[in-house]
Amino acid sequence: MRKVNSLKTPIYRDAGFHLKDADSTGKAFKAEVQHIREPDTYIYSRYRNPTVVSVEEQVMELEKSKWSLLCESGMAAIDIALSIFQKGKDTGSWLFFSEIYGGTNSFIDQVLIKNRGLDIHRFYAIDGSYDLEFLDNMLNELKPELLYFEVISNPMLMVTDAKAIISLAKNAGCRVIIDNTFSTPFLLKPLSLGADLVIHSATKYLSGHGNVTAGVICGNEEELMQKAIEYRKLVGHMLSPDDAYRLGTQLKTFMLRFYRQCRNAEKLAIMMEKHPVVEKVLYPGLKSHASHQVAKKLFENSAWGAMITFELVGKNDVVKRNNRDLFMEILSEHIHLIPSLGDIETILLPVEPVWGEKYPLPGMIRLSVGVEEPEELLKLISEALDKLVY
Ligand code: PLP
Repeated sequence: MRKVNSLKTPIYRDAGFHLKDADSTGKAFKAEVQHIREPDTYIYSRYRNPTVVSVEEQVMELEKSKWSLLCESGMAAIDIALSIFQKGKDTGSWLFFSEIYGGTNSFIDQVLIKNRGLDIHRFYAIDGSYDLEFLDNMLNELKPELLYFEVISNPMLMVTDAKAIISLAKNAGCRVIIDNTFSTPFLLKPLSLGADLVIHSATKYLSGHGNVTAGVICGNEEELMQKAIEYRKLVGHMLSPDDAYRLGTQLKTFMLRFYRQCRNAEKLAIMMEKHPVVEKVLYPGLKSHASHQVAKKLFENSAWGAMITFELVGKNDVVKRNNRDLFMEILSEHIHLIPSLGDIETILLPVEPVWGEKYPLPGMIRLSVGVEEPEELLKLISEALDKLVY
């Protein structure tokens, strides 16, 4: 292979890599089985790929983890992170917080409970908050092997006291997996608080441009991460080198992007809370938010995340729904309805059509705030609000 003076790891699209002879093939396969990964010897891209490895190193820097694995979606990361704790009939009980991504909840119901027959329990939030005393009792009575939660809930943006929860779980001898997608390593590095694994939908803030579907698992424990590597290999959850390359390029601006997104969101939330057509703004940075004190204690960088959920006024549901639809229509040239988040452009999602059963709130909208010029963004949204009825 000809080497050139490039600083970037190129996109290695090889499905299988060139091995010199029978002897080196035997050695390479033997090393693979023993989890000895020679930096310059690759075998097959589903096992390990140099482009993917170089981006995994970038993620390790961000989450300050000893290990990081990329996979082909956030759901794949969740599957890997959970499956490596399964021990057939000896698998103990697992405890999941109720306010987690809908896809994860469906995975729990349809795969973990229905297909795999696991003993799954849920810890429910009551009136928008988790009772940690109740959790402590539950951990000590149920003695779950595994606890799983998200730091910022969706769409209500409740912040869980990850530090306190990890400490309760550790005292009860329970492993902890945290989905850090909404909070990102900019706000929180759960491994430093004692979490066993951190997962991300890298489709969101880490890639940030709405053009990659990817997942991440980070951890510090070699044995656990070796199991994750093995599982990823066996079920074929590896990320493609093209997506890895795109993710790696975009990761370089993650800190800049997320910093700006958080600042924009804070300004917007303050403006919106004062606007007469806005009934309620849910943003952890606002003193009015039920989780403000927890967020203040927990988050790094004096930031609060870049998601805002707000509810428009209206004397009844019809008026609220009309206000919501008018707001989206006025902004439709600039702020698109996209069922995702974390992109550099501000995007929105009406809450009722997605979470209607749980949150039948026709005037509610979730905003994923982008990196736009703040004054322009504020003007755009405040002018749209000015046109609504109250
Ligand atoms: N975790 C959270 C918090 C999410 O919001 C999502 C998707 O929206 C996922 C995991 C799943 O990620 P992906 O869509 O990349 O599979």
